[in-house]
Amino acid sequence: MGTLAEDVAIVTGASSGIGRASAERLAAEGASVVVADVDAEGGAETVDRIESDGGAAIFVEVDVTDEEDVQKMVDTAIETYGGLDIAHNNAGIEGDGSPLAQQSADNWGLVLDINLTGIFLAMKHEVAAMVERGGGTIVNTSSIAGLSGDGTAPYVASKHGVVGLTRQAAVEYGGEGIRVNAVCPGVVRTPMVERSLEEHPEAIDQITAEQPLGRMAEPEEIAAAVVWLASSDASFVNGHPLPVEGGLLAR
Ligand code: NAD
Repeated sequence: MGTLAEDVAIVTGASSGIGRASAERLAAEGASVVVADVDAEGGAETVDRIESDGGAAIFVEVDVTDEEDVQKMVDTAIETYGGLDIAHNNAGIEGDGSPLAQQSADNWGLVLDINLTGIFLAMKHEVAAMVERGGGTIVNTSSIAGLSGDGTAPYVASKHGVVGLTRQAAVEYGGEGIRVNAVCPGVVRTPMVERSLEEHPEAIDQITAEQPLGRMAEPEEIAAAVVWLASSDASFVNGHPLPVEGGLLAR
């Protein structure tokens, strides 16, 4: 039995990268997991991986910018597993990498919609289900770009927004037994980073040289922090953006 046996969890962006690692780890700790993503093929693979390890999971095709989809995601947790205890709101995109003056309003809107509005919509419906259940825990994926100017204008603005949203929800819903925190990863070896390294292979040496630990994180190292924040071991941690960045911010 894992530490989260009996719990029901939702993970968005669980078809790939950090979200997949988080879904797998939550399941390994005993939680039943709703795997939510726009990518049905990757989602089915995540569910297969969990089930072949003896865990319980179901895929729901969800665009986190669509409120009806988000409602369906939460309803699936309740209808399939009886309620909702844990949510990891993680779906996100990097968007166009141009400097601010070359950014289009369309890219700004897309990044803010998925990375920030998507988390607002998810929390809105998750909190309602958790209040019904008598409590719960939420972990939102921000970034070191939520704590410093390390990225592009829309990405950094969206990730700072996630930290603000996390703090406000923590204050509003602590009294209902709901803790809300954020995880702020540094550079993690996921398809998101691999895509940008394919475009700029020369960047790998610089990225590695900047890392105090001399390497990027693996998705499982972020998942471990998510599971800790979601667990009762973090019962007095609330409204906190937790950097998991190998010391990058210590520079
Ligand atoms: P990834 O591209 O591997 O996974 C992102 C997932 O989100 C994909 O499965 C994708 O289909 C899904 N997604 C995208 N738009 C969606 C939408 N509208 N609705 C539902 N699902 C959607 O990327 P990752 O690196 O695992 O990133 C996960 C989160 O971590 C993101 O929020 C990202 O900003 C954040 N992050 C990543 C890093 C890193 O270095 N990889 C660092 C800091 C923060």
